[in-house]
Amino acid sequence: MRPEILNPLFRPVASLPGIGPRLETTITRLLVGAEAPGPARVVDLLLHLPSGLIDRRRQPGIALAPEGAIVTLKVRIDRHRPAPPGNSRAPARVYAHDDTGEIALVFFHGNKTWLERAMPIGETRYVSGRVEWFNGAPQMVHPDHIVDEAGFADLPLVEPVYPLTAGLSGKVLGKAVRAALDAVPELPEWIDSGVVARHRFPAFRAALGAMHTPANVADAAPDGPAASRLAYDELLAGQLALALVRAKLRKPRGKVRTSAGKLKAKILAALPFSLTNSQTAAIADIEADLAKPERMLRLLQGDVGSGKTVVALAAMADAIESGGQAAFMAPTELLARQHMRTIAPLAEAAGLEVALLVGRDRAAARQAALAELESGAIDIVVGTHAVFQEGVEFKDLALAVIDEQHRFGVHQRLALASKGPEADVLVMTATPIPRTLVLTYFGDMDVSRLTEKPAGRRPIDTRAVPLDRIGEVAERIAAATRDGAKAYWVCPLVEESESTDLAAADARAADLSRILGDQVGLVHGRMKSADKDAEMRRFQSGETRVLVATTVIEVGVDVPDATIMVIEHAERFGLAQLHQLRGRVGRSDRPSTCLLLYKAPLGATAHARLQVMRDTEDGFVIAEEDLRLRGEGEVLGTRQSGMPGFRVARPEFHGALLESARDEARLMLARDPDLTGPRAEALRMLLYLFGRDDAIRLLRAG
Ligand code: ADP
Ligand code: MG
Repeated sequence: MRPEILNPLFRPVASLPGIGPRLETTITRLLVGAEAPGPARVVDLLLHLPSGLIDRRRQPGIALAPEGAIVTLKVRIDRHRPAPPGNSRAPARVYAHDDTGEIALVFFHGNKTWLERAMPIGETRYVSGRVEWFNGAPQMVHPDHIVDEAGFADLPLVEPVYPLTAGLSGKVLGKAVRAALDAVPELPEWIDSGVVARHRFPAFRAALGAMHTPANVADAAPDGPAASRLAYDELLAGQLALALVRAKLRKPRGKVRTSAGKLKAKILAALPFSLTNSQTAAIADIEADLAKPERMLRLLQGDVGSGKTVVALAAMADAIESGGQAAFMAPTELLARQHMRTIAPLAEAAGLEVALLVGRDRAAARQAALAELESGAIDIVVGTHAVFQEGVEFKDLALAVIDEQHRFGVHQRLALASKGPEADVLVMTATPIPRTLVLTYFGDMDVSRLTEKPAGRRPIDTRAVPLDRIGEVAERIAAATRDGAKAYWVCPLVEESESTDLAAADARAADLSRILGDQVGLVHGRMKSADKDAEMRRFQSGETRVLVATTVIEVGVDVPDATIMVIEHAERFGLAQLHQLRGRVGRSDRPSTCLLLYKAPLGATAHARLQVMRDTEDGFVIAEEDLRLRGEGEVLGTRQSGMPGFRVARPEFHGALLESARDEARLMLARDPDLTGPRAEALRMLLYLFGRDDAIRLLRAG
């Protein structure tokens, strides 16, 4: 049960003044995503930290205001230009100037009387908001504040700026956050007092106050004590949850599983290639783990195309030969089906029974598969989350392989544990997470790394091409496909609307069809998975030769004879994503090309990202650069999302706190494994606040 003192923080945001049901929906989408089980809560709002600050002591003047920056301007109002009659979409404009230049203040659906009263001609006003350039002139759309001298004196000198979304103004959000702050009770300290003293951490409540109502810029700095405190809290909650899971997963000891490796030998013999050294080493690591009495928790880290699937298959063969069953879990149905296609023929060569289990199986087929799993007739089940669900019983689950794990959370690991209380776990990730971060995502796992690309692979020729040469590119692709090549064409994700994405991909497919006829396929996230699957198969078989896609192909898709990757609006993608996408090609001994189509002019960070892509294919180097550039992005005022799954902690500022949080979590559990001692109550609160309370269930389960 959640400690009662936290209740005010777990009320829906609509309980705050000024937030109605409509705003609640918007805030929920912004803070916890549209798929969240319930509305955003007060605590979500509190942990939605400012992405920047307005410092009203800095008033650059119109001409010097950086594009896209939020600034305060002291201006004289010159003239009003109301919206043209009959065109309700056109905005009203109010022109104003200062010593450095002129600016248009823009108001959609602006009420004439209100505008004239708020900004009388000839008077001085302070306006605060984002400066944009439109048709070569600076403008500010819907300033956050329009005040006179007296009003300016009342404004806070430093005001937080929040990452926003359509339909939600900074003003409304700010007000809601301040109301949320009033709801925060004084809570007992959960962090070790030595750690608090060493880092000069303020208390939880004070830290939230400093972030949301800073008295000066330093208060809310991302590497300052308040932000660091909250980041530490989040990291500690994460590490504590991981440590709890690990302790409980390890407690029921694993089984000693040994095999003569006969099945594995059959599978390896059926491969058309020989293993790389690091594949062989990883298989040996796993074999040793299986034979140990403890449960295996191993992370197999290997860049895209490094051949993780084969390693997993070899491990599964060993597990099965020792008498058990194996499960192979992928994050999406598309990938599950693809793994199925790879695994099925090889498994057959070794005489193994494989079944596919995904969300939308027909009931009869599903029932049959479930029965065979339970009887042990099926050796390997390949599937999605569906495998974790209730009603799925194994005769003896010996090994669970989880692909692209960072999309699965702690609770899935728990669900998994219940399927096979002694099962060894192999987690595979293609995300080249830097060593410093492995801990954050995976906790204390043993790590095997695939460091070589399979022999015969050629480097990918990567080029950046401005978008206005898209016609040329399309012609080149057409020519190449006539010579037998296959190409992916990725259309970008536009954040505002999934339907716009779709339109872009749709339109692109139509364009290309005009050149290439019916050789063009299209896959996107909104398609039914059966259709997606059919489309992938058509591409695989060569029926289609160009596959237009939204980023659904990002993870794990394997069509070795595809050698061209076109990424449209490459400047909108992050480095990790670009790397993942590019990794779809360069999977055979044929030379591959990656064309990064960008819209000029490129910003500094986007330019640097594309440069990195041209310079290297080494995923680990790219990951390090990614971190570094994110740090710079911050300086440029464009915060990108930090660590996936974390709201507060950011690797570039708080990475160093991680080890300390891990040590504290371990020490705590070593002293008090069931969290019953005096500080435990506080730590439980922490787990609730940061949404890690599913780990608490473990404590109860004992
Ligand atoms: P990933 O690590 O990205 O999951 P895959 O397991 O999908 O990589 O392997 C990528 C491709 O490389 C597959 O077509 C696979 O058959 C092939 N492959 C794997 N290992 C080797 C190897 N040692 N030599 C040549 N090709 C290999
Ligand atoms: Mg893979």
